[in-house]
Amino acid sequence: MGAGMSRPQTFYIETFGCQMNAHDSEKVAGQLVARGYRPAASSDEADLVFLNTCAIRDKAEQKVYSRLGQFKADAQAGKKVVAVLGCMAQLEGEKIFRQVPFVSLVCGSASYRKLPELLVQIEAGQRQVTGLAYDDEPFETEFTRRSNPFRAYITIIEGCDKACAYCVVPFTRGPERSRASDSILAEARQLVEEGTTEIQLLGQNVNSYRDPSRRRLSFAELLAAVGGIPGIRRVRFTTSHPRDFTGEIVQAIDSHPTLCDHVHLPVQSGSTRVLRRMAREYTREDYLEKIALIRSARRAISITTDIIVGFPGETEANFEETLSLLDDVQYDGAFSFKYSPRPNTSALALDGQVPEEEQGRRLVVLQARQREIQLARNQSLVGREFNVVVESRHSKQPQWVGRTTTNRVVNFASSGEERGSTVPVRVTAAGPNSLVGERVQTV
Ligand code: SF4
Repeated sequence: MGAGMSRPQTFYIETFGCQMNAHDSEKVAGQLVARGYRPAASSDEADLVFLNTCAIRDKAEQKVYSRLGQFKADAQAGKKVVAVLGCMAQLEGEKIFRQVPFVSLVCGSASYRKLPELLVQIEAGQRQVTGLAYDDEPFETEFTRRSNPFRAYITIIEGCDKACAYCVVPFTRGPERSRASDSILAEARQLVEEGTTEIQLLGQNVNSYRDPSRRRLSFAELLAAVGGIPGIRRVRFTTSHPRDFTGEIVQAIDSHPTLCDHVHLPVQSGSTRVLRRMAREYTREDYLEKIALIRSARRAISITTDIIVGFPGETEANFEETLSLLDDVQYDGAFSFKYSPRPNTSALALDGQVPEEEQGRRLVVLQARQREIQLARNQSLVGREFNVVVESRHSKQPQWVGRTTTNRVVNFASSGEERGSTVPVRVTAAGPNSLVGERVQTV
């Protein structure tokens, strides 16, 4: 904090990356407000700016460094205090101070419980304050400042004990630590009392959930318990790991209508050889067995996934196996990326690095194939009616935006809706990434 600057009063959090980061920002904001800070409308107006960062790919990191540069003048003039939070903070640590000397605080997501004491140091004018130790408790706080009035995130497990060869998460978020089921359920009930109708349970690997309380609820039992809270309408969860995904979860979805009929099950590659090099701990066949489990459900559960192309050693034939897996599984959505070499990951030492250009070609081919599949699957829904939760008014079209339980976006014509309400919509047209519909008038 520059000379002459009194105790910062206002704050602004800029969040990069995943839903876990978005929810961490809500918890950090809650702690700041509880400490007497006021939220600012923009980073320009804020005394204290937090960048809650992502480190999943190199590009994400470069984005943060260039954003930090924009605060240089104000920070050096003592008008602003700049803090770096999240995965890049944990991965880069003190190196950030060398690269960006005007940063005052670097705190990893596994140290957020210490944030209040770190803020005391900042308020006392200290510089280069760090919070980089791995906590053995999940980050729980009674102060969470949520932005969405009807939908809420709840983190049930933090960190990851797996070691996928391309992934920095075990380094950036530390070892797995699950939250006690009674604490999760208490928060969920409180949220429903306050008007929340949809809850999304979060974790790098929710299936690894191990209830530390005496109840020892399994993940499927926890899902069912949250789904059974009176007043809850929808429960979602992300992210699952195929190795730990069980039939119990499918049964829970089948027997609890509030549990959304959508499962996000990252496969990463369709080739057993590449999955072994990735240390994903399952084969193509194991994965397809889990898909068969989900497809055997009474409800038509939507399945989406994550895929990496161009992983070291991936041959053209291996890539073809990934394409054929798309045809076999028929995903409703797939997030796909080129392999990005990350610090501390075992993939760095692997031979057979795939040239950037070839990675790009494979990504284009894969995304085109998946788009065809999505278009055909969405077109098969034309004429059907779905209940959608109204999320917003379309920014450009005279339409409203809603979401089905299968996590599909529907843009629909309507004279007027209320955010958070559930309305029936008939699908009239379909694109690869969303549906178009019309409001069904209920008498
Ligand atoms: S399961 Fe693998 S990819 Fe997922 S967070 Fe853990 S190490 Fe990363």
